[in-house]
Amino acid sequence: MRLEGVELRLLDLPLHRPIGTAAGPHVHRAVALVRVVADGRSGWGECGALPGGTSVDPSLEEVWPALRTTGAERLRAAARARDGELPGAAMTGLLFDAHPLGRMMSAAFEMALFDLELRAETRSLAGALSVEEGKPVPIGALVGIPEDRAIDTLLRQADETLTAGYSRLRMKIGPGWDVEPAAALRRRFPDLILQLDANGCYQPGDADHLKALDDLGITCLEQPFPPSDLPGHAVLANLLETPIGLDESLVSPRRVADAIRYGACEVACLKPARLGGLLAARAALARCTEHGVPAFVGGLFETGLGRSALVALAGLDGFILPGDLTPPRNYLVEDPFDYPEPAGGAIRLPATPGVGPEPDPGTLDRLTAETAWLPYEG
Ligand code: MG
Repeated sequence: MRLEGVELRLLDLPLHRPIGTAAGPHVHRAVALVRVVADGRSGWGECGALPGGTSVDPSLEEVWPALRTTGAERLRAAARARDGELPGAAMTGLLFDAHPLGRMMSAAFEMALFDLELRAETRSLAGALSVEEGKPVPIGALVGIPEDRAIDTLLRQADETLTAGYSRLRMKIGPGWDVEPAAALRRRFPDLILQLDANGCYQPGDADHLKALDDLGITCLEQPFPPSDLPGHAVLANLLETPIGLDESLVSPRRVADAIRYGACEVACLKPARLGGLLAARAALARCTEHGVPAFVGGLFETGLGRSALVALAGLDGFILPGDLTPPRNYLVEDPFDYPEPAGGAIRLPATPGVGPEPDPGTLDRLTAETAWLPYEG
């Protein structure tokens, strides 16, 4: 396919309600999209970067200008070296440096190139990943820390979230909001897969306090300590019955293997945007499967496009736990991309060509704050 150009769009998507995390509330979801145009077709990719970033991921404010310069330029240089022909999606990782910014850009461009290729071949992403089309993929839901930090509010939000039949709830925790609210959720939902996500905000001195979670039948205590503290996580994994999961610590397939071997990772949250793309996430999953570590797909409040990619990925057999696959309309007021309708707490993998649906042009334009068209000039 001959490259014609790259379009970058920055969307500003209002949220239904602020999403509370240990790092603070998110009020809007700004999202960067990449559209690669070749042979008269468009391939869409979504960048996972969040406004303000996370403790390990570059911020959208940092990634957006880099997509326009380094990102688009690397793709154009790759095409120039091939007389205008685009490299295959599977080659995208080779175009970018293996640092957080490079991996984040690689994931966005890889998705766009996959979308282009799959549309040209009229194949679905599930098919390309050798996942059976039509397979039901279970959805896991998330509850943030309520703004009023009231257990009643948490229970109400969990009730609203779980009416859709989801089998897993992942609850954000932090110092002062952990054992008591988790116990209240467990009393309300005795059979639910309940996971707790700390986003790295505890210290090793909190280990004795966290031990109280062992009575609650928690499937995974995710990222209790800062991302670089693998020894701390390994010590905690020995002390607690509750499986210790990692998320922010897992930035590459190699790091996943190291963390597992170190005894620091008993459950893995894999995010393609952080790992460098869908193929890197699949490679990381293979490390988990090799060592018998259950994994799930982690979300970053994507649009229907990014979530569609996550659903296909989550269809891979090693993803034993339900992933962050709730419909974006649960948190986005408007979304230019459609998303499959869940039924019975699961999504059936669509057989439609491409990574996800094409955007609705009117909605897309209305929600676009900034656009850049970077033509390929040989
Ligand atoms: Mg997490």
